[in-house]
Amino acid sequence: MKTVDILVIGGGLSGAATALGLMRRAAGRVILLDEQLPSQRLSRGNFGLTWFMCKGTGNPAYARWCRMAAQQWPGFAAQLKEESGYDVELEWTGGAVHAFGEAELQGYADSVAGLTATCAEAGLDYPVRILNRSEFADIVPGMTLGDEVSGAMYTEEQGHVNPLKLLAAMRCAFQRKGGEYRGDESARQVVPQKNGTVKVTTTRGEYLCEKVVIASGHGSTRLVAPLGEKLSIYPQRGQLMVTERHKRLLRVPLLSVRQTADGTFMIGLSSEDTALDTRVTPEAMQSQAQNAIRLFPMLGKLNWVRSWGAIRVMTPDGAPIYSRIPGHENITVLALHSAVSLAPLQASDIAAWILDEGEHDIISHFSNGRFHV
Ligand SMILES: Cc1cc2nc3c(=O)[nH]c(=O)nc-3n(C[C@H](O)[C@H](O)[C@H](O)COP(=O)(O)OP(=O)(O)OC[C@H]3O[C@@H](n4cnc5c(N)ncnc54)[C@H](O)[C@@H]3O)c2cc1C
Repeated sequence: MKTVDILVIGGGLSGAATALGLMRRAAGRVILLDEQLPSQRLSRGNFGLTWFMCKGTGNPAYARWCRMAAQQWPGFAAQLKEESGYDVELEWTGGAVHAFGEAELQGYADSVAGLTATCAEAGLDYPVRILNRSEFADIVPGMTLGDEVSGAMYTEEQGHVNPLKLLAAMRCAFQRKGGEYRGDESARQVVPQKNGTVKVTTTRGEYLCEKVVIASGHGSTRLVAPLGEKLSIYPQRGQLMVTERHKRLLRVPLLSVRQTADGTFMIGLSSEDTALDTRVTPEAMQSQAQNAIRLFPMLGKLNWVRSWGAIRVMTPDGAPIYSRIPGHENITVLALHSAVSLAPLQASDIAAWILDEGEHDIISHFSNGRFHV
């Protein structure tokens, strides 16, 4: 049996960011296991937004957490480049959500007012403003807006990245700092020992660990169930489509359309309850394409070349789960949507919390127990 200080189970965005954070804090021998399940490709199949805008309505802790993550993103990307050599293609060019018609724009204004007040209570700014149609047109100068567009909600302080490079960069930096990455190795069982250590059986052997972090996306449910923990997550499919490349026109990413550094337009914003079925459907493709063309009519002239589905890890309130298993304090489970946006905090505050090096007061709001009432 191999002995390990910390075993992280799941090498997606959440596990990789956390494992990197642990190595930044010299946590000792840290091993990151990943099983590469085809049904769990969301860390390679997401939209790449580093986003805080509109997150946390009715949930002040989550609004603050998202805002803090966005504030850390530029520094995080720069540090990752230094540590790994990867440029994650962060474009800190802002972000927008378009509105069709005045009623939708007014709804955005109400939401911005609420989140501004929430963040102010915690001493955080919420730099989001409502743009009318002509102000919105000014921030997307290469694109002509469709007739129904009334305006947008907009912030200068977020952006987008290449999520594939982000995942590669975090895994690479983790290994350069001495962490051990084991792809193609799956954890089968997590068994707490009487002395507080934890035995983990995998497809390749056994580990005796001081601490275990379960960040296995939908695979986490099966690992924590025998420990008496019912993880409150459910699958939600999102479908994305990609066009052929085009000269760079759109520099500000929108929630439903962004142009990547290599010129393709990514289009998406669907959400469906479909268990772990990752297939794409003509209905979702049609509705997303129609929405995108109503926003930017020129997209109707481009060929759509690729599409895929991926299954979000959703919680009932949309906020993350960062939780120690009751009675087994050395086992932590992390389950979340928005692991691109929240990656800087996983590598900083969450890694520190796992190491008992200080707990940010917000983290206690994100326990799995909040759903067991
Ligand atoms: C369409 C779509 C668009 C999205 N857009 C964005 C966005 O713009 N911005 C953003 O922030 N977020 C976005 N997300 C969400 C983001 O992709 C997820 O939050 C993130 O990928 C979750 O990462 P994870 O590591 O928690 O889970 P996963 O990516 O599922 O990683 C878990 C890993 O653990 C492995 N595993 C499972 N069981 C075991 C086991 N027993 N042993 C070892 N390994 C195991 C899995 O195979 C997998 O590799 C989007 C998601 C979708 C579906």
